[in-house]
Amino acid sequence: MGNRLKTIKDLDIDGKRVFIRCDFNVPKDEFGNITDDRRIRSALQTIRYCIDRDCKIILASHYERPEPGKYEEKYSLVPVAKRLHTLLKIKRDIFMAEDVIGPDAPQKAAKMEAGDVLLLENLRYEAGETENDMAFAEKLAAYADIYVNDAFGACHRKHASIDAITKFFDADSKAAGFLMGKEVNFFSKVLEDPVRPFVAVVGGSKVSGKLQALTNLLTKVDKVIIGGGMAFTFLKALGYEVGSSLVEDDLIEEATTIMSRAQEMGVKFYLPVDVVAAPEFSENTTVKFLPVQEIPSDWMGLDIGPASTRLFREALNDAQTIIWNGPMGVYEMDRYSKGSMAMSNNIAQTHATTIVGGGDTADVVQRAGDADEMTFISTGGGASLKLIESIALPGLEALK
Ligand code: AMP
Repeated sequence: MGNRLKTIKDLDIDGKRVFIRCDFNVPKDEFGNITDDRRIRSALQTIRYCIDRDCKIILASHYERPEPGKYEEKYSLVPVAKRLHTLLKIKRDIFMAEDVIGPDAPQKAAKMEAGDVLLLENLRYEAGETENDMAFAEKLAAYADIYVNDAFGACHRKHASIDAITKFFDADSKAAGFLMGKEVNFFSKVLEDPVRPFVAVVGGSKVSGKLQALTNLLTKVDKVIIGGGMAFTFLKALGYEVGSSLVEDDLIEEATTIMSRAQEMGVKFYLPVDVVAAPEFSENTTVKFLPVQEIPSDWMGLDIGPASTRLFREALNDAQTIIWNGPMGVYEMDRYSKGSMAMSNNIAQTHATTIVGGGDTADVVQRAGDADEMTFISTGGGASLKLIESIALPGLEALK
């Protein structure tokens, strides 16, 4: 994090061909409609900056996980191109390439004029992307004179459009875009010098993915609130019967270590005191609000209960900085979404600086109608966790 991240403002880009790695991995509904276009909107600043400088702009992004070599329509970026065109409010159409490295894309690139925008197809249609393949990266690099990375959400991955491609640009021809600059600086500032009390709210399904972040957070925060599926590993570590709730048995020891470290360091550690429990992972079943002491051995907890919501609200009351990653329950199902919605409302109502990280959590905040109340919603869940863990991000390293 130490040295300042160079941004596109530091480069001379006038009239040049600029390759911008974006993160257009937006959620879509069952009909293929984009349900949340924040990631596209967040990219506009950098794109407009380039348009105003008469650049030829080549945009690239991955979209979900297609099988390499198979151009399936559901993974196509065509809907993104349409939305981007609407949002950019430019007259000329956006060029949409039919492929990533040819034959169509380079032909369209060659026909571009100043201020034109070309969107390549899903980078992951090509195996070289995730393999960080040099030959593939060289073909991508051939599109442009300048490389800009504005895909904070993908920066924790060592992929060709994030890492290998940067080898083909010298220091004066590569930089971060505005979105990435903002995200990185924001996280660094909060982690280095937070206004206290500083509270971390951590939820979601897996302890494993967040263990290191949790361990690292203990050295920085005053309170930790745990919800979601990951709470059950901690509850089981404390000896509670958690039934068939999501538990990572091999991490129970680590969970115990985290709790005793929290105690040693004076970090207040909060777990749910009650849950919304059901006999199966479904909405169409009996549901009970139960204290964590009373989960039947064949039931599972799918959301935090109302008492936990109140307890967590009390714990958040005096917070000055809150960082939130991971829903409190299976929020995708209405019946188990109340804990997450209430958490969103409660965080939004504090006077704290509030940072929301991760696609799911951002989605919760959006659904709860609190997006405008949060100080900062990060587009990159995995990447922001890595920053919290103080792990170098390949995408940032590559720009140095
Ligand atoms: P993550 O990707 O680790 O942030 O986890 C997000 C996912 O966790 C969401 O899809 C939720 O449905 C899921 N989740 C949250 N709480 C639970 C729970 N109690 N049991 C199972 N899954 C959960």
